[in-house]
Amino acid sequence: MPTANDSFPRFENVIIDISHEKVDRPFQYRIPDRLIGKVDVGSPVQIPFGRGDTRRKGYVIGVTQEPEIDVSRIKEIISVSDEIVTAEDISLKLAAWMKDHYGSTMIAALRTVLPSYKKQKRQVHRFVTLRMPLREATESYYEAVRKKQRARERVLKELLENSAERIPMELITTKLNVSSATLKSMSDAGIIRIESEEYYRNPVAMTTSRYEDKVLSPEQQHIVDTISRDYDNGRRDTYLIHGITGSGKTEVYIALIDDILKRGKQAIVLIPEIALTYQTLMRFYRHFGERVSVMNSSLSPGEKYDQMERARNGDIDIIIGPRSALFTPFKNTGIIIIDEEHETTYKSENSPKFHARETAIELSKLIPDGACVVLGSATPSLESYYRARKGEYRLFELGRRLTGGRLPEVDIADLREELRRGNRSIFSGRLQSLMDEKLEKGEQAMLFINRRGLAGFVSCRSCGYVFKCPHCDVSLSEHRGGRLVCHYCGYEQVRPRICPECGSKYVSSFRAGTEQIEEEVKKFWPQARVLRMDADTTRTKGSYDRILSAFANREADVLVGTQMIVKGHDFPDVTLVGILAADMSLYASDFHASERTFQLLTQAAGRAGRGEKEGNVVIQSYQPEHYSIQCASRQDYLSFYEEEIAYRELLRYPPVSHMLCIQIQSRDEKEGMEYGGRFRAFMEQQREIGAVFIGPAPAPIAKINDIYRFSIYVKHDDYEVLVRLSSNLEHYIRELEQMGKMLKTSVQFDFDPMHA
Ligand code: ADP
Ligand code: ZN
Ligand code: ZN
Repeated sequence: MPTANDSFPRFENVIIDISHEKVDRPFQYRIPDRLIGKVDVGSPVQIPFGRGDTRRKGYVIGVTQEPEIDVSRIKEIISVSDEIVTAEDISLKLAAWMKDHYGSTMIAALRTVLPSYKKQKRQVHRFVTLRMPLREATESYYEAVRKKQRARERVLKELLENSAERIPMELITTKLNVSSATLKSMSDAGIIRIESEEYYRNPVAMTTSRYEDKVLSPEQQHIVDTISRDYDNGRRDTYLIHGITGSGKTEVYIALIDDILKRGKQAIVLIPEIALTYQTLMRFYRHFGERVSVMNSSLSPGEKYDQMERARNGDIDIIIGPRSALFTPFKNTGIIIIDEEHETTYKSENSPKFHARETAIELSKLIPDGACVVLGSATPSLESYYRARKGEYRLFELGRRLTGGRLPEVDIADLREELRRGNRSIFSGRLQSLMDEKLEKGEQAMLFINRRGLAGFVSCRSCGYVFKCPHCDVSLSEHRGGRLVCHYCGYEQVRPRICPECGSKYVSSFRAGTEQIEEEVKKFWPQARVLRMDADTTRTKGSYDRILSAFANREADVLVGTQMIVKGHDFPDVTLVGILAADMSLYASDFHASERTFQLLTQAAGRAGRGEKEGNVVIQSYQPEHYSIQCASRQDYLSFYEEEIAYRELLRYPPVSHMLCIQIQSRDEKEGMEYGGRFRAFMEQQREIGAVFIGPAPAPIAKINDIYRFSIYVKHDDYEVLVRLSSNLEHYIRELEQMGKMLKTSVQFDFDPMHA
């Protein structure tokens, strides 16, 4: 901290207009002696502004010793306040924390936390209701079924099932995939009525209907009571609810939100974008009516602006959305819920590379009255479970499925064995016979190929041997010229032609795609109707929902896809799930490989047998004895956790230790590598005891668009040491840049990376 005797002049960069567009246009002020030591990045300040020196509120976003204008024209800050009162105060403090904690610039942090304030035209919210008595509507429904008017059928079914209450039109168009033209024609035909919000200032129409509210089970009630009691006692903790899909977590969230709303607070609910399904949203809408709103990437800028305005005005109390919904400008958030907290999408891929979980916990501390944070998952991240075990989070277990529905029967098929028996197809014998059986019965199947982390690992198809780095215990990736490279430490070797384990010549990189599987299915079961879902078929807007609703409407018998198909959505008629190459993700050159595999398999297996009928799951693998496959087949999280945490302990990977990834990108391969070496040397000179350095080495994707990518990893038990190293390195880099060096190279920091 500088003192009053500090001989250097100090200038504060202050922003006045807190709008996304203006944050990189700060004004400079001087700190008067009496305020030195009291001003921090993120502090709200009073400053004289403009010709008339009008008093305005601004925020300090940086401190510098370089005046940008004539020093005599720089004015002084009037006063500093440390009090946090407005939503903006909180956002600014949060940005300052993110800048330090994730090693980004203040501008990047501000752009993340500040929603777009650009004025947008107000949009009307439309609702759809039935215009005819229930009996007639039921007749119209059957008529639509007869005439195969699928869209009409979906709308009527939904309205009838909801006892004719009104449903937000945007939900029908997006999640039920019904065009507004169809709705218009139904309205013209006198079947439905479309209303605008203006007529309905009073949200009673939706909130009174609570018919589907459940009496909580004792386990559910216990969670709600505990958290509520803590809240009354002034405790603001983080809680982890571990419960399989269908164990009633969402019902608990709803009860918790109810409780918090009664206290006059607001609620933020984070749900991975991909799981923001129609069914999930409707449950919240039904319960909370118009007090709830949604954020997601398909909203237009105008719609997004509207939701932020409504939050600011107190028009809504609950926001549901992905990661970014965390930055909703509520005045008094009381609870932050993160569902499916293990999802990797909770971590941002752009700088600041923040994790929604950590950021939520920090945010909850910045809110004057504090907020509690509730995490939920069927397969908690190692990170959260580890913290819960250490007592940092409070752990709750929800054991059983509330809707009945038996857990599916799981078979593991050994692909090495299949090859030995001469079966060269991608379907094991067991999967083939189950497919025959289910299709015969007119039931549905999902075939899932695990493509995650497919960065060209090389294995033996005959014995399952995988080429791994002798130093890092992750698989080697195939690079050009037949080299196998470890992207942690840079170790490399020539790709052998025969397997060192069994001598077979079936050594190859595994590349089966969804398209190939689709073709195979058509060959084996020509009568089956097949839908495919992957990055290719979901490129256009709405195609994701379209494919899922087509499958839900039984327009196909088999759905083939990547991990996209295992999330969200309930398909009661799916009685078979086939996981074609379960261990593909095990070979990812990433220390998370086993964790991801376990999560995916557990989720995928949970897709079968959601309805009344018996479900089957077939897991095909070259490594059936691996603990993530064994544990997933038994839905045994605890055993998996024990095995996996032991591995992390041994190699000091997070969450046991912390890891900083320094990502170097360069247009010049040699320059990038050379600076990588310098950065490492610079950090080693800092003499941080206990720091372990690995690399620089080529990143998993070593080149994108002619930009070469390298990584350096630093491990340390103390996160703060990593923060110190990154911030010193950043200064060093800035000096290099000011000397006109490093022209072709840039650097980003990633703390406790998700893909490493
Ligand atoms: P999760 O979020 O853990 O997947 P849900 O909250 O969606 O679980 O609950 C799964 C199913 O069980 C839902 O259909 C829900 O309506 C029902 N359910 C939840 N809690 C209860 C309860 N206390 N009594 C009866 N049914 C319940
Ligand atoms: Zn082999
Ligand atoms: Zn290595």
